[in-house]
Amino acid sequence: MQFEDLRLSEPLLRAVREAGYRTPTPIQIATIPHVLDGKDLLGCAQTGTGKTAAFALPMLQRLSAKRGPIRPGVVRSLVLCPTRELAQQIVESFHTYGVHSGLGFAAIFGGVNQNPQVRSIRGGLDVLVATPGRLLDLMDQRLVSLAAIETLVLDEADRMFDMGFLPALRRILAVLPKVRQTLLFSATMPAPIRELANKVLKSPVSVQIERLSSPTPTVDHWVHHVEKPAKNDLLIELLAKSPRSRALIFTRTKHGADKVTRHLIGAGVNAGALHGNKSQGARTRALAEFKSAGTGVLVATDIAARGLDVHDISHVINYDLTNDPETYVHRIGRAGRAGAKGTAISFCTSEERGDLKSIERLLQQPLQQAGQSPAREHSSSSAGTAVATRPIATKRPWRNRNRRERL
Ligand code: AMP
Repeated sequence: MQFEDLRLSEPLLRAVREAGYRTPTPIQIATIPHVLDGKDLLGCAQTGTGKTAAFALPMLQRLSAKRGPIRPGVVRSLVLCPTRELAQQIVESFHTYGVHSGLGFAAIFGGVNQNPQVRSIRGGLDVLVATPGRLLDLMDQRLVSLAAIETLVLDEADRMFDMGFLPALRRILAVLPKVRQTLLFSATMPAPIRELANKVLKSPVSVQIERLSSPTPTVDHWVHHVEKPAKNDLLIELLAKSPRSRALIFTRTKHGADKVTRHLIGAGVNAGALHGNKSQGARTRALAEFKSAGTGVLVATDIAARGLDVHDISHVINYDLTNDPETYVHRIGRAGRAGAKGTAISFCTSEERGDLKSIERLLQQPLQQAGQSPAREHSSSSAGTAVATRPIATKRPWRNRNRRERL
C-alpha cells in the first residue's frame, strides 16, 4: 500500500514525500479512507504509530475541499490533547503535512503568556490545537469561537482523563455544533473513555492498532553524535575497544554496506556484507562466516537483515540511523535476545537529529549520550568472550541518570 492509494490530493502527497515518508503506517492505512469519507472514528493507538498523520492528512484534505472565507476568531477544526508538548508536536505536524495547502494552524496551551496565542487565532483558523484548560480560558474571555467547528479530534483521551480534564472537555463539547465529524484516539479504553466515546461519536468506525514492537529490555541504548567523515574511525575504535561477541552493523544503502565492509577489512576487522546486490552464494557465505566466527562483524541493509536468525549478537550498530522508529526497534531486537545483555549504538549526524527524536518518542525515553571513551561505555557481558569493564545493571539503562552523569 502506498500513500498514492489512499485518495490523498497532490499537495498532501508532495508534503508526505518531502517529510521522507515512503509508505503509510498501519494506522494511516486503516484510518485515512474513513476520515476522508467524513465518518466518526474511535482509534485505539499509541503515539509513535503515525497517528498524527492518520488524522491530520484527511482533515487537511477535507478542509481544503470546503475552503471558504474565514471569519475573525472563528475556528474550523479543533484538536484537543493533554499536554503542551503534544500540542506543539501536533501543530508542527500540521505545518509539515499542510505546507502546500495554504491553510492556517496554531496551537494554544497553558503555562505561557496568552497574548501571542490570542494574536495567532485572531484572524480565524483552519486548525486549532489546544489543551483544554487554556482553550476554556480563551472561550471564557470570548477570544475564540467554536460555533463553526467541522471536525473535532480528541487525542490521547485517556491521558486527558487521567489529568482531570474531563469536566473541561464536557464544557467544551457543550458549545460545539452537533453536526460535525469527531475522531477520538486513546491508547487505552477504560470505562470513562468508552462512555465519552459513546456520547461524542456517531456510528464510529473502530480502528485498533497495537504498537508493532517494543524494545528489548536488556539492550543498552547509546547514541554518538558524529558527522559523516568521522563515522568510520569511530566504528573501528568502538569495535576494537568494546568487548563483544558478534556485531551487526546497519547501513542505509547497499553501496554504503560495501564501503563500510571494505573499510573494516582494511583495518583488519573480520567483516562481511549482506545485501540485495550480492549473489545468493555470497550472502550464504557471509552469513555462515558470521555465524561460525566467535567475534564476527556483519554489515547489512534492513531488507537483507530481515529474518536473520543469529544468536549471540552483542552489538547492533546503526552506522546510519533509520527514519522509521519501528525499524530501529527491529534492528536492535537482534541484540540481547533470550535475556542476554546487548548494546545498541547509533551514530547520529546533525541531519539525523529529527530521526533520533522520532526513535526516542517511540521508546518514550532519550537514548544515552555517549562520551569520548567508548571502551568503557560500550562493554557488554553477553558472550563468553566478553569481559565487562563496567556492569550493565539496569533493565532500562537509558533511564539511569547517575550513569549518564558519569559519562
Ligand atoms: P506519531 O505517532 O504521529 O507521533 O508519529 C511518530 C513518528 O513517525 C513521527 O516522527 C512521524 O514523523 C513519523 N511518521 C509518521 N508517519 C510516517 C510514515 N508513514 N513513514 C515514516 N515515518 C512516519
